[in-house]
Amino acid sequence: KLVAGNGKERSKIEVGNAVFGEGLVIIAGPCSVESEDQILETALAVKAAGADILRGGAFKPRTSPYAFQGLGLQGLKYLARAGEAAGLPIITEVLDTRDVSWVAEFAQMLQIGARNMQNFSLLKEVGKCQRPVLLKRGMYSTLEEWLNCAEYIMNEGNPQVVLCERGIRSFETYTRNTLDLSAIPAVKELSHLPVISDPTHGTGKVSLIKPMCLASVAAGADGITVEVHRNPAEALSDKDQALTHSQFEEIAKEVRLLERYM
Ligand code: PEP
Ligand code: MN
Repeated sequence: KLVAGNGKERSKIEVGNAVFGEGLVIIAGPCSVESEDQILETALAVKAAGADILRGGAFKPRTSPYAFQGLGLQGLKYLARAGEAAGLPIITEVLDTRDVSWVAEFAQMLQIGARNMQNFSLLKEVGKCQRPVLLKRGMYSTLEEWLNCAEYIMNEGNPQVVLCERGIRSFETYTRNTLDLSAIPAVKELSHLPVISDPTHGTGKVSLIKPMCLASVAAGADGITVEVHRNPAEALSDKDQALTHSQFEEIAKEVRLLERYM
């Protein structure tokens, strides 16, 4: 299998100046792109705090069809401009096979969301384009199922896959999901692909994000991705888990300190 680790050199995946598999990569930005000045303000703030890649959703996979669905093409344009202004490459989620090729013209990295992890036609489509892909773990998926999805992408000719643990459903309700920390070293035993952690969706609670970022780095994560908003109370999606700019700054500082000991 293409994903299998056995003796293969660990993959290094470049996105702008960031390299997954070589130092800790920090992805930060809002859940959704909401306006031109919102994404620009957060882009400049996360860049100043040490982020490597700017995130922002333009197409949102919302649980309810009546919730904010994202700004689409307009959102992507705002995100791309903000990334350029801040000097950061951008990542955004793609939901539909029909959007892959044109979204790839705007974004330096494509995200496959947890809900689409096993959308095999979407996996094949991103496998045909030459952009690095962040493959989030499905909320009901085993490691083997997740790695098979990476295999689908790689089998189409795109070896640039980064895995992202984002929490799985358990019986616990205090947290939004249960961040499976052991998946990080486990997947590194099974595969040569880089793996990052998403403590934002993994916990759904601001107070738990910093400890889980630090724990993820200690567990060997190649990066973290977190949601940051200039005014979390007003965020149009995922407001209970959005960090303020200053909370992000503190987390970035601490994970960089911990990285030095790894
Ligand atoms: C997101 O990153 O905004 C997102 C929707 O994540 P997930 O697919 O992990 O739920
Ligand atoms: Mn979100």
